[in-house]
Amino acid sequence: MAGFWVIGNWKMNGRLQTGKELASQLLAVAAQCADRVRVAVAPAALHLHAVGSVLDNSAIQLAAQMASAHEDGAYTGQCSAAMLADLGVRMVLVGHSECRTELAQDDAVLRAQMQRIHEQGMTVVLCLGESLASYEAGQTLAVIERQMTVLHDWVDWSRLMIAYEPVWSIGTGKVASPEHIAAVHDHIHQRLRELGDAEAAVVVLYGGSVKPALMPQLLALSGVNGVLVGGASLDAEQFGQICMVVAEQALTD
Ligand code: PEP
Repeated sequence: MAGFWVIGNWKMNGRLQTGKELASQLLAVAAQCADRVRVAVAPAALHLHAVGSVLDNSAIQLAAQMASAHEDGAYTGQCSAAMLADLGVRMVLVGHSECRTELAQDDAVLRAQMQRIHEQGMTVVLCLGESLASYEAGQTLAVIERQMTVLHDWVDWSRLMIAYEPVWSIGTGKVASPEHIAAVHDHIHQRLRELGDAEAAVVVLYGGSVKPALMPQLLALSGVNGVLVGGASLDAEQFGQICMVVAEQALTD
């Protein structure tokens, strides 16, 4: 899990053809910087197979946006972790704010999803973040602390990433200050240290209206090990620029 990660969350955007085209455009990006930046993309579940075929044997890993909390059975509309693993998925988002809100996913559901993903040998990307009201009330760290309780009995630290995404920043164009991002990332790393001998293995990403221009200041923050990119990941040029800024920084380190 070492190195700087750039993960694109395509959400429920585009059609099959646009997803395949975007994936092919990203192959050129990966060819230029795969030795210096780790890249993954999470298409919609229905597009995983086709996009995975385009990315096959490339340096870009296939990620999924969600897995069911259930192993198998009568759960209409859901995809099991095993089904995702069959398609070559390597990592799965858990607790994205849009899932927490739209699908009313609580901690019990998130824990079960994490367990299913773990059983299939995939990496969990656990998304955390405070609402605007909590941010304005100065409650960010308390929210993060509470959301991290789903990790209390977690054991496989090498198959875990955390993405700190302030809910008020997702898709809004509003970006948290470097001081705020650094403070939250420090806190997450500190909690990981307390939860076990975890800190060295766990990658902690930042997400929320990430654009190429924001990358230099994010790269300067020592606790930020990567970015989770929504809107800008749908544009091969912008996503490529984000990867290239990271790659150029890696050369100068
Ligand atoms: C996201 O949905 O994970 C995200 C960070 O979106 P955006 O970059 O569009 O804010």
